[in-house]
Amino acid sequence: MRQAFKYRLFPTKKQTEFLDTQLAEAQGLYNAALQERRDAYNISHVSINYYNQANQLKEIRANGDCGLENFSCCQDVLRRVDKTFKAFFRRCKEGKGKAGFPRFKSRDRYNSITFPSYGDGCRLLHNGKLRVQGLGQIKVKLHRAVEGTIKTVTLLREAGKYYVCFSCEVEPEPLPVLPNSVGIDVGLTTFAVLSDGTEVENPRHFRKSEEKLAHAQQVLARKKRGSNSRKKANKTVQKVHAKIRNQRNDFQHKVSRFLVNNYGAIFVENLNIKGLASGILAKSVNDAAWGGFLNKTSYKALNAGRVYGEVYAPGTSQECLCGAEVPKTLSDRWHHCESCGLSEPRDHVSSKVIKSRGLREYRKHLPSEAALL
Ligand SMILES: [Zn+2]
Repeated sequence: MRQAFKYRLFPTKKQTEFLDTQLAEAQGLYNAALQERRDAYNISHVSINYYNQANQLKEIRANGDCGLENFSCCQDVLRRVDKTFKAFFRRCKEGKGKAGFPRFKSRDRYNSITFPSYGDGCRLLHNGKLRVQGLGQIKVKLHRAVEGTIKTVTLLREAGKYYVCFSCEVEPEPLPVLPNSVGIDVGLTTFAVLSDGTEVENPRHFRKSEEKLAHAQQVLARKKRGSNSRKKANKTVQKVHAKIRNQRNDFQHKVSRFLVNNYGAIFVENLNIKGLASGILAKSVNDAAWGGFLNKTSYKALNAGRVYGEVYAPGTSQECLCGAEVPKTLSDRWHHCESCGLSEPRDHVSSKVIKSRGLREYRKHLPSEAALL
């Protein structure tokens, strides 16, 4: 199973400049490859594939038209273009609204290069430094050990700082079987509500960071376009964004770890994250970043040998444990069932419904030695 490990890099000034130019080169290649495909599509209605483009790489590099040091990195850039085009064609085929044509990337939106096979152009040394082709050794802050086998390496720029991200193949580490299970509902006011009544609150520092973000954005909005002070204000906004991202990731890791350590089977709603995020719940769903949380929970569960199930979502807030329908609008915060008398907060009942659906849907996958409660 793949798992990502991210660390801060401390390049020297010279190394930073080099990394910046490498990103710029990758961005140039990306846009050139995109341009070629767009032209081919618009002018002669043919589509160029990855191999057509990769076959030109040697020549392009020999001509000195691409300064990205590592050959495999160049291939990775072309693969990214390929991916966005495939996604574009898929959206066209599905007829999902307006399929946006793949767009060129500006400098500040192109922030990573990937070494697709570890050891080719990038390697972690025993002295704890990262060797990068054409650049030498960069200091890394390894705040936790890299686990498993490193497969790919990505160098990332976030708010002016550099990071390295190792994607590793990690061996499963099963935990002892637990005879219990839990259903989880996305909370509207809290982060999540568990079927045993536990409420997982959003940490308070989220609010604080959000206020900081709002303030930084106001400052940015007042700056004149193209001015230096605007650039500076923009940097501040990016910094706050990065901080929020890190805080959120930490929080998600903690909660998912708690769940996996304490429950034998974990059931969540199979929400259409995108659909929901653009709808009425936008703010709270974005806040809670449900998707990232589910990712972390599912891989940790898989790794520990836990049952992880996403259950059919519609109606989990509209029915009772007894099966009776209890219609509610979004503003109805309380569940009261006429037929069995169950009277509890709405989110609590939903999480119980999710649990019972999970136990039903995933019956075959539950450990036989434990009657899951
Ligand atoms: Zn009922």
